[in-house]
Amino acid sequence: MTDKIDLQNVTADFEDKVYVIADEVLNILKDLSQENKKQINSKAIAEKMFWSDSVKNILSVNTVNAPGNVPDPESLKELSNTLLDKFTEFMPPSITDQLSDLKEKLHIKEGSGGSHDWLDSPIKVIKKYIDSLTVRVKELENFMQQTMTYLEETEGHVASELSSQQHKFREDRSFEENISENVTSIKNNIDVSNDFNSIKMAVISKIENINKSIETKREHDMRRLNETEKTLDEMGRRMSEIKREADEIRKKSQEIEFESVHDNLTGLYNRRAYDQKITETLAALERYNVPASLMICDIDYFKKINDTFGHKVGDLALKKLGSLLKERLRINDFVARYGGEEFAVILSHTDLKGAIQAGEGVRSYIDKAVFSYKDQKIPLTISIGVSVFIKGDNGSTVFERADSALYLAKKSGRNSVKSENDVLSDVIAIN
Ligand code: GH3
Ligand code: MG
Ligand code: MG
Repeated sequence: MTDKIDLQNVTADFEDKVYVIADEVLNILKDLSQENKKQINSKAIAEKMFWSDSVKNILSVNTVNAPGNVPDPESLKELSNTLLDKFTEFMPPSITDQLSDLKEKLHIKEGSGGSHDWLDSPIKVIKKYIDSLTVRVKELENFMQQTMTYLEETEGHVASELSSQQHKFREDRSFEENISENVTSIKNNIDVSNDFNSIKMAVISKIENINKSIETKREHDMRRLNETEKTLDEMGRRMSEIKREADEIRKKSQEIEFESVHDNLTGLYNRRAYDQKITETLAALERYNVPASLMICDIDYFKKINDTFGHKVGDLALKKLGSLLKERLRINDFVARYGGEEFAVILSHTDLKGAIQAGEGVRSYIDKAVFSYKDQKIPLTISIGVSVFIKGDNGSTVFERADSALYLAKKSGRNSVKSENDVLSDVIAIN
């Protein structure tokens, strides 16, 4: 062992603290949403965090405190990168580019000494993530607001249409009364007068009255018809607007749903989807005896690629590996990025022998493929550990057997495939 600090312990210690902060942020978000704050922004969160004892506690002591050990800048950079990589798994693609830049800067920054960049960066990333969530919530809120306004307007239109119908009914009645009054008056005139001229004058004047009433009525009806048409047009226009927005929201939720089960760097399934698939695979074995195997693939000397060519090239290598795995494996093999530079494949309807064959196929396919950056060839190989699901297994037990096989593959020179059976033979050989 070197006299470097124990990175795993420091990582665990730092992770504990990040969890406390994340918990605190979650509680604050819950509080803020209960207080019905319209604007949940970083300022509101920060103000609440100032009062939190757990946060004060964490931030006031040395954040990386392995007793008696002052961590060297290299380890801090390493730690920071590891944390950033972990956060990447949860990031929406919209901020992945900025994140890569951040990682790159951190990677090239030499001898950061007492600087707190390594701590600031993950915090900035969390903040960006929260901001992006806030934007989504805001979009949804706006849409709901618009829909409510539209419904209120529609309610108003219907009410006014109703009252205008009642009005029209009253008007029609008075129009009919007016006509009938005029006709009665003509009749009366004829009854009381024998003078043809006065009958003629009276009839003409009444007919003029009737004509005027008809004209006025026609004008009213036309005006009302125009108004109704306008209202209908307006309602139709708003209706298609709402439909368009609802389509957009639906598309966005589908995107969010996709993002929640996919790793945004490689496009493969993510850890969350993997956990779900493991549960389904175990259930299918218990209930229907469907055999299945697990393959854990880990890039060989990946740290060296990062150190030599930078994190961005490291990310490109991860992407390339993701597509090579998809290319070589079968369509119904479940390929996930388990974390960092480790990939997990669940092979349904496949026993251990079949999985070893599939592993060997993938290993040699990747060994033969060429990965280059700026015309420079970069060696890219993987080691694979394979286990088979057995009844009574849980997610951890089947994983641990594949992981021990992977460890053996690394130990025996890398760029190789080992199974849980090889681990057993190895133990027997040692004893
Ligand atoms: P081994 O052959 O024993 O597996 O050696 P290794 O160097 O591949 O393994 P090690 O576990 O020492 O290093 C893994 C490295 O992978 C360290 C970490 O910074 C890097 N890494 C993890 N996730 C990412 C990522 O998303 N992008 C990049 N560029 N690097 C990552
Ligand atoms: Mg690894
Ligand atoms: Mg590795």
